[in-house]
Amino acid sequence: MKEIILVKLGEIVLKGLNRRTFEDMLKKNIKNSLRGLGSFEITCAQSTISISPNSDDVDLDEVCERISKIFGIVTFSRAAVCEKDMEQILSLAPDYLSEQLENAKTFKVEAKRSDKKFPLKSPDICRETGAAILEKFPHLTVDVHNPDLTVTVEVRDFKAYIRGEAQRGAGGIPVGTGGLGTILISGGIDSPVAAYMMAKRGLRLNAVHFASPPYTSPRAEQKVVKLLQKVSMYAGHIKMFTVPFTKIQETIQSQCPEELFTIIMRRLMMDISQRIAKQTESGALITGESLGQVASQTIYALGCTDEATDMVVFRPLIGMDKEEIIKISRKIDTFDISIEPYEDCCTVFTPKHPRTRPVLKYVKEAQSKVDFEPMILEALDNLKTTEIYP
Ligand code: ATP
Ligand code: MG
Repeated sequence: MKEIILVKLGEIVLKGLNRRTFEDMLKKNIKNSLRGLGSFEITCAQSTISISPNSDDVDLDEVCERISKIFGIVTFSRAAVCEKDMEQILSLAPDYLSEQLENAKTFKVEAKRSDKKFPLKSPDICRETGAAILEKFPHLTVDVHNPDLTVTVEVRDFKAYIRGEAQRGAGGIPVGTGGLGTILISGGIDSPVAAYMMAKRGLRLNAVHFASPPYTSPRAEQKVVKLLQKVSMYAGHIKMFTVPFTKIQETIQSQCPEELFTIIMRRLMMDISQRIAKQTESGALITGESLGQVASQTIYALGCTDEATDMVVFRPLIGMDKEEIIKISRKIDTFDISIEPYEDCCTVFTPKHPRTRPVLKYVKEAQSKVDFEPMILEALDNLKTTEIYP
């Protein structure tokens, strides 16, 4: 028996002119994510992508696991393939779904007949398939409103497909259809979640990480790589830039008012990140900021941070509670890495009494007393890049 995976696309996006781009990108993302699992035929017709393994020894459970993390997919399911012949359908359906049918009490059959030349109409396909199933599994009853199991028979262009319950896909829009965004990534809980959320809206990702050796250890940077690896299961390939930030932080500490340390540091992070973003043709910065979470994330502090860049800044967590953010971080499997106890450059230098209501005019005045430009250029000259793959 030949088994494939059928993938249903997000329909709203499919209606526009960008339908082709959407489908092509999704096919490409599927192909990339299945790398290492064997060779596949990936085709798209009638809002369905079919993934057909070219050999029998492919691990379809692992294929499904990877498919479940690809954005742009509403549902997906494994399906058995046979000829468009009623006899074959009737013998295959009870056999292929025997385990699920044994465990169900009620079921119904749905038919989708995109080949309008097929001799039987949908209600006939349902009736005959239902009867064949009942004959083999007499404990079942039909329930068309709320069945334990829905058996679907699809008669498409070339073949017929039989499947049980579909699994929910990752939703969202295919990564890459929205352009490139630059995530400012720390080792914390929030920024990996912010990265995931923007990838879900179709962005490919770059990452910028600020490291301050010897105040921060190489293990802190390694932690960020591990976090990005988890994010890349959803977002695909990510290029990470590590910025040497020690000298800049030491200079802020020695030459700027202590209570403005954090806000000036955050402005410089934005400034450096936007230069990297522009060099890499990225269209937006992304941060894990959430309104009111800490002193640097009050409405006033965010206003001061924002002024340091003329790029659009996405803050997808801005209106979320920590609990909601943690829930997503558990789902994407970054939480346990995030809570590993390595110091981030932000925490190393945190002042005792940061301003929660910084005034832009004074912040800019304090910042302009120091010539940061040579230090910024030096940091940009010494970027380290790391390629991250799922
Ligand atoms: P996170 O959990 O993402 O660390 P946080 O709640 O600890 O966030 P802050 O430390 O104030 O908040 O950082 C706010 C945002 O600034 C982070 O979400 C991230 O986008 C960015 N950021 C903080 N530290 C770094 C860093 N070392 N390198 C790159 N970006 C950083
Ligand atoms: Mg942090």
